[in-house]
Amino acid sequence: MSYVDEVFDMVVAKNPAQPEFHQAVKEVLESLRVVIEANEEKYRKDALLERIVTPERQILFRVPWVDDKGQVQVNNGFRVQFNSAIGPYKGGLRLHPSVNLGIIKFLGFEQIFKNSLTGLPIGGGKGGSDFDPKGKSDREIMAFCQSFITELYKYIGADTDVPAGDIGTGAREIGYMYGQYKRLTGLYEGVLTGKGLSYGGSLARTEATGYGLLYLTEEMLKCNGKDIAGKTVTVSGAGNVAIYAIQKAEQLGAKVVTCSDSTGWIYDPEGIDVALLREVKEVKRARLTEYAAARPSAQYHEKKNGEHGVWTVKCDVALPCATQNELDLEDAKQLVANGVFAVAEGANMPTTMEATEYFQKNGVLFCPGKASNAGGVATSALEMSQNSERLSWTFEEVDAKLKNIMVNIFHNLDDAAKKYGMEGNYVAGANIAGFLKVADAMTAQGI
Ligand code: GLU
Repeated sequence: MSYVDEVFDMVVAKNPAQPEFHQAVKEVLESLRVVIEANEEKYRKDALLERIVTPERQILFRVPWVDDKGQVQVNNGFRVQFNSAIGPYKGGLRLHPSVNLGIIKFLGFEQIFKNSLTGLPIGGGKGGSDFDPKGKSDREIMAFCQSFITELYKYIGADTDVPAGDIGTGAREIGYMYGQYKRLTGLYEGVLTGKGLSYGGSLARTEATGYGLLYLTEEMLKCNGKDIAGKTVTVSGAGNVAIYAIQKAEQLGAKVVTCSDSTGWIYDPEGIDVALLREVKEVKRARLTEYAAARPSAQYHEKKNGEHGVWTVKCDVALPCATQNELDLEDAKQLVANGVFAVAEGANMPTTMEATEYFQKNGVLFCPGKASNAGGVATSALEMSQNSERLSWTFEEVDAKLKNIMVNIFHNLDDAAKKYGMEGNYVAGANIAGFLKVADAMTAQGI
């Protein structure tokens, strides 16, 4: 049995009931097969793959907090410090009822390769809780965040582990967490990123994941003789990634006709009105029904199980920006039948493995999230740099660095795919390029 297959079987056996983690590992290991087989004896002797699929540390903790009725609630807290070969652990905190250890491990594992691809010195980590922020009062959010950090503060620090936002964790939550860290430690340090601008945050961090997605997509299209301007784009999601992906796509001359949230989706043939979307989602924290009510050209569709939502809409470019496994084989078939020619992931692993293969077999340009959504974490690393030098860069400076990073990521994965005889396979290119840097650092640092 080949080393790659042995390690995958070990992952499944040792981590039962963690399907998303298995999926993420499978995708990476399949891509690495050629690299590993070329040097199998050495990798096997060093147990390099066993080490890279095993988190360095997993912290599981209780998060008790008091709700507005005076009732004590208890949630599960997680921080998986996956790999610190190339820098301090770095990755977001997801607050969503679906969060469990397997989800955090899949995200943390992806983060290792994503962070490596940015070219910046950041290791991989991820955390979160099964806390559901939906419908909670501001005071309840604060109570939860303070309790979460009251345990987690022992394990994080500006040079050890630097958490950030993810689904359910935005500027408000980061603010409450930062305040609690400071209260408990007395340290004013860059321990979290995505902070507010008045206390150490970076300009362009809010926009970075969505903007970065478009910078990379633009470069991928350019290198394949196409242009984003004038194209019709479908986007899923209506959170931080989706909003700024839509904004940048429209700035680049594309027309974005869809977005979605957990209860329904919008088709707006005139193009999504980003100012209105921001008002509904960022200011009012309301549902997309409010967008439809204020926008005559928009059609609202209730989310129904088994229906394919935004992926039924004809488009040239599809940008899944909601959550994992939101785009399946049926969706991929529909998109290809409708003429899609490029897909770039804004979310983490939003496309199932079967759907990804279908796109690739049908000549669709496909960029995996660990490359195309890396602009968020890359700009977090830029926030860390600014915190270290106690300076703030201008929006233009950060945005220019972000663009440069995204263009470099694309060329890095394109070159890796070519070097290993898989031209155009950007999934393989991203995994190989991300892996080689981490593997080299792990080897250099010994056991
Ligand atoms: N949660 C984001 C991601 O999936 C950003 C992480 C960060 O900024 O550390 O990459």
